[in-house]
Amino acid sequence: MSPIDAPVLQVRGLSKSFGTNQVLRGIDLDVPRGKVVALIGPSGSGKTTILRSLNGLETPDAGSVTVGASHTTADGSAGKDEPSGVEHNLPPLTLDFSATVSPREVAALRDRSAMVFQHYNLFPHMSVLQNVIEGPIRVQKRPRAKVIAEAERLLDRVGLLEKKDAHPFELSGGQQQRVGIVRALALKPQLLLFDEPTSALDPELVDDVLAVIKELADEGWTMVIVTHELAFARQTADEVVFMADGVVVERGPASQVLREPKEERTQQFVRRLL
Ligand code: ADP
Repeated sequence: MSPIDAPVLQVRGLSKSFGTNQVLRGIDLDVPRGKVVALIGPSGSGKTTILRSLNGLETPDAGSVTVGASHTTADGSAGKDEPSGVEHNLPPLTLDFSATVSPREVAALRDRSAMVFQHYNLFPHMSVLQNVIEGPIRVQKRPRAKVIAEAERLLDRVGLLEKKDAHPFELSGGQQQRVGIVRALALKPQLLLFDEPTSALDPELVDDVLAVIKELADEGWTMVIVTHELAFARQTADEVVFMADGVVVERGPASQVLREPKEERTQQFVRRLL
């Protein structure tokens, strides 16, 4: 593998139980730089728990997560242009959950990945702009004027600059989710995580949000997307991973897994949704 293809995300042996309920049973996942992986599977199979583990919101019992390989090319120069100036030449960060993981390591993991939630999770008492700049200014300690300028550029890009002073309750679900996406982008993460980003939306609002995500994929962002929108996954994802009962049942190129799944469980699932 050439350095430029090194995975941005490497998950090994991730396991997690809630009480006696073993939700993840040794998950391995690789996401190469600039690639999109769609995570599909029945409700309760552990998809959200994986994403939350990648964003420091859940602490796995065992396994490891590595984010960000060094992406300099063989001649030592930086790799290809990154979306929106994302710093990709940080040394890789590995959290080994079989040992004790410190709050500082969790914070570092959260700094490299950003999550877009099913229910948007915007701060209701803050304006759109405040929602977007809060993380970069307060947590990442980046300069306020620069963060605001970037936030306004990103809001403009998704057609919401004129709503920057509005509060979330004044926006449609689709607009709130576009703010959720902008908030994630403003953190300049190496990895974008989407947890069923359109499943809370009225059907007529779904396409606008999916179009934004597709654009980000085309721009080269590295993403993991949990979704039930299989047609979208087929268009957007490079790889599809089908999970059931806390294990990966099947994985492969999106067209293969969605059109010609090898495993019977995948066949049943895909047939029902496509
Ligand atoms: P999916 O995203 O595939 O629907 P989840 O990762 O949300 O699956 O959930 C997997 C299982 O873990 C479910 O049985 C769910 O009830 C359980 N679970 C998730 N989060 C918690 C929690 N915080 N406490 C207890 N059980 C949980």
